[in-house]
Amino acid sequence: MNKISWWRTDFGKDEVRKIRESILHEHVSQGPVTAEFEASLAEVLGVPYVVATTSGSMALLMALLAAGIGPGDEVVVPNRTWIATAHAPLLLGAKVALVDVESEYPIMDVTQLERKITPRTKVIMPVHLNGRAAGMEEVSKIAACHQLRIIEDATQAFCSRNTKGLLGTQSDAGCFSLAIAKLISTGQGGFVVTRDKQVYKRLKMMRTHGVDDVIDVSYTDMGFNFRFTDIQASIGIAQLSNLPKRIAKIKAIYTRYRDAMHEFPFLKFIPVDIVRGELPIYIEVLCPERKKLMQFLADRDIQTRPFYPDLNHAAYFGSKERFPNSEVFGEQGLFLPCGPGQPLENVDRVIEALRAFGDSL
Ligand SMILES: *Cc1c(COP(=O)(O)O)cnc(C)c1O
Repeated sequence: MNKISWWRTDFGKDEVRKIRESILHEHVSQGPVTAEFEASLAEVLGVPYVVATTSGSMALLMALLAAGIGPGDEVVVPNRTWIATAHAPLLLGAKVALVDVESEYPIMDVTQLERKITPRTKVIMPVHLNGRAAGMEEVSKIAACHQLRIIEDATQAFCSRNTKGLLGTQSDAGCFSLAIAKLISTGQGGFVVTRDKQVYKRLKMMRTHGVDDVIDVSYTDMGFNFRFTDIQASIGIAQLSNLPKRIAKIKAIYTRYRDAMHEFPFLKFIPVDIVRGELPIYIEVLCPERKKLMQFLADRDIQTRPFYPDLNHAAYFGSKERFPNSEVFGEQGLFLPCGPGQPLENVDRVIEALRAFGDSL
């Protein structure tokens, strides 16, 4: 039997054709194809400004730089996210304040947010983990009250929405990723979206060493080379042209698993609200016997992936604080095989294997 990997993306003929076209037109580094891709993303998300860059991590770093974050500042981050969310402020010399997540869902518990705010706090970074909307209304209220900026980590939430609209578009800046294990991918890549023209200008200039005009150069601000490439943008444009199909596939995988979950008392499924427009790219379950289940599935050529460790476990945080809700997710969380390129037959095979695991208990 074939090996089933925990994630399968989907690249096809459209991607190959677009890359070929770009190269034949000598559109290789950042140029017109990147601009076209940015414009398409802006249209999909209904925002005026998009700046593409090398990764989702870089998008986070750039958004924080544009907000002027540096040493002495504090940034509030949920304790459950990919560590990239915290590394961005840390690399800029800022301090990170961690907030525990809710008990039912791995998103920032907004009721614990306010007591993490100090006179040095500058930014709140809600994370829409697995397309699940963080409590933007409460975050916005608290941010307004303390005059803080909000930078959304929407890297796992492209095309996902809450009742207000698309996630990543409801704050000062939203950051998205184009890595392999995301809804659409360009291999590596990411982008920042904003409605603020000043922020947009800063992002664009910092992407090329703070230089506005590369022919008539003047050094106005510091920046670096955070540029995207037209080769990547070609892949991105092809991916966007198949977006409805990808979204339909992601939903089909989700509902296939969800509808089988009642058969597995040894698992706790972590749902998302697809009726409200949340789009789950991953299939998340909690399993107290995670290690045993992973081995059982691995023996049947099925790869799974445990959740990332809680951020407070990073030695360099030196945190002695406890995060009881996070702990359960960190210790029991597991991603089951998914992704826009995952055949539904594979999902059925995973479900079959889960039945066999249940029988073996
Ligand atoms: C993927 C991801 C990032 C970073 O994106 P990269 O493109 O991999 O740098 C940041 N935060 C979260 C929650 C992610 O899932």
